Amino acid sequence: MKLNIQNIFTSELPSDSNLENSRRQVENAVFSYVKPKKTKKPEVLHISPEMANKLGISNDELKSEFFKNIVTGNEIYPNTTPYAMCYGGHQFGNWAGQLGDGRAINLFEIEHQNKNWKVQLKGAGETPYSRTADGLAVLRSSVREYLCAEAMFHLNVPTTRSLSLSLSGDEVLRDVLYDGNPAYEKGAIVSRISPSFLRFGNFEIFTARKDIKNLKKLVNYTIKHHFAHLGKPSKENYIHFFKEVSERTLKMIIDWQRVGFVHGVMNTDNMSILGLTIDYGPYGWLEGFDFGWTPNTTDRQHKRYRYGNQPNIGLWNLYQLANTLYPIIEEVEPLNTILEQYKIDFEKQSLQMMKSKLGLIISDEDDLKLIQDLEENLQLVETDMTIFFRKLSNFSDEKTGFKLIKDAFYDVENISDDIKNKWNAWFKKYTDRLAIERISSKERKEKMDLINPKYVLRNYMSQMAIDEADKGNYTLINELFQLLKKPYAEQPENEKWFAKRPEWARNKVGCSMLSCSS
Ligand code: AMP
Ligand code: MG
Repeated sequence: MKLNIQNIFTSELPSDSNLENSRRQVENAVFSYVKPKKTKKPEVLHISPEMANKLGISNDELKSEFFKNIVTGNEIYPNTTPYAMCYGGHQFGNWAGQLGDGRAINLFEIEHQNKNWKVQLKGAGETPYSRTADGLAVLRSSVREYLCAEAMFHLNVPTTRSLSLSLSGDEVLRDVLYDGNPAYEKGAIVSRISPSFLRFGNFEIFTARKDIKNLKKLVNYTIKHHFAHLGKPSKENYIHFFKEVSERTLKMIIDWQRVGFVHGVMNTDNMSILGLTIDYGPYGWLEGFDFGWTPNTTDRQHKRYRYGNQPNIGLWNLYQLANTLYPIIEEVEPLNTILEQYKIDFEKQSLQMMKSKLGLIISDEDDLKLIQDLEENLQLVETDMTIFFRKLSNFSDEKTGFKLIKDAFYDVENISDDIKNKWNAWFKKYTDRLAIERISSKERKEKMDLINPKYVLRNYMSQMAIDEADKGNYTLINELFQLLKKPYAEQPENEKWFAKRPEWARNKVGCSMLSCSS
C-alpha cells in the first residue's frame, strides 16, 4: 500500500515537546505526538470503498493485513508520526478548559487527486488529553458514527467521512445509563477522514491561555491551507475568515434542519472550523416532527441542543469563536456585523429551505405564514417528518391531501376531527399556493425528491444493526450502508426502511435515548 503521505500539519505547527503519553495540560502546542495502542485481535468489519478510492487505496490493498493493522493502530505507516490535537471548548454553555483528542489519534495526511486528507482513528487508546477516560470506543457508538457520516455525505450534508469500522478485540467497560451498572462491551475503532479535524476549540484554547502568538500561527495555517482563496493572512482576512466560518456553519445547520438531523452535543469542541458535521455521538433523527426533541439524555433537562435550537446554538458558538479571534482582529464592529448577518441569513435560508421542501419556487408574501402553519400542524400529533415530506411530492389537491400523508401519523386511528380540519385547511392553502407556480407537478415532484430524502438512518435502524453486530452478524451494517448511498432514490426492494419507527423502539435505549457514553 503506497500512499502519498504529507506532513504539512505536523511540520508547520508547533508540537508538544513532551513525548510522554501522560495526561496533562499541554501548552504552547497545537498537538502532541502519541502512538495508538496495540489491540488484542483486530478485525475489519466494514470499509467505505468510495472513501478508500479517494485516498488512492485499491480494493486489493483494502483486503490486506497491512491495511487492517494500520486502521486499528497496530502498525504505524512508515515515516509517519501520529498525533493527538490540543483543544478546549464550551460544553453545555460553560468553558470547560482543555479537552483535546482524548481518544482520537491522527495517523497521517494523504494527498491524492490534488486533495489533502487527514486520517484519524477514534478509539485507538489514551493520549495526553484522555483526562479521566480510557481513550477507547465501543462497538455501538462506532457503528453509529461509521454509518451516519457516510449517510450524511450521500444526503449532501457537509460532514467528515468514514473509511473503516473495526473491532479491536479488546473489551471496554461502560455505564451506558450512568446508573452505576457498568458492563463490558466490544471495543471498536473507526477510521475517519476529513481535510481537517480542527474545531472551534482548537482556537479557543489559545485565547483562553492568552497565547496570542500560537493563536495567530494556527489561524494563519488554517487560512493558508483551507481558506487559501481569501489570500494572505492579514487583519482584514481574519475577518473574512470568520465570515466564511459563520456562513459554512449556517449552511451545515440548515442542512441538518432540512433532513431532520439532531447533533445532540453542539459544544464548541464539536464544531468543525470547516463547517462539517463532526463527532457523531448521541445524535438522532427526527421521527415525529418536534422542535423540542433531543436524543441526548444528558441534555434531557434543559434540552439546549434540541432540534429547533440548533440554529441558535450555531450562533452562540460563533460568538465564542468571535471572542476567540478578537485579539488578532482588535475590532468589535466587523465581528458583530457578521454575527448579525448570521441571523438575517438564517431567516432567509431557512425560509428558502422550507420552500424547497414544499416545492415552491417563486416568491409569495404569504410563504412564511404557510410554513409556520405547516410546522404547527406537524406538531399537533406525532407526525413522521421524513414520510410526510416525501409523500408530499405526490400532492395533487386538498381533497386527497389527508389520505396521501396518512401514513406519516403514528396514531392514525385517533386523529380528531379538529386536527383533520386543520390539515384540510392547510392543504387548501397549499393547493392555492401551488396554483401560482409555473412548473408542472411532475417537475415539482422531481425537485422535491432531491431535497426530501426517502431513507435516513433512523435511530432504531442503527440499533438493529448494533444488536446484530453484538452477536457477530454484520450483514445489517452493510445493508444500511448500501441503502443510504442513495437516500433520495426510490429503492423498491428497500421499501421496508421507508417506515415509521416501530413501537418497540419508542422508549428503547439507543433508539430514542442516547447518552454521551460511548
Ligand atoms: P465528546 O463530547 O464525546 O465529543 O467528548 C468530549 C471530550 O471528551 C473530548 O475531548 C473527547 O476526546 C473526550 N472523550 C470522550 N470519550 C473519551 C474516552 N473514552 N477516552 C478519552 N477521552 C474521551
Ligand atoms: Mg467531541
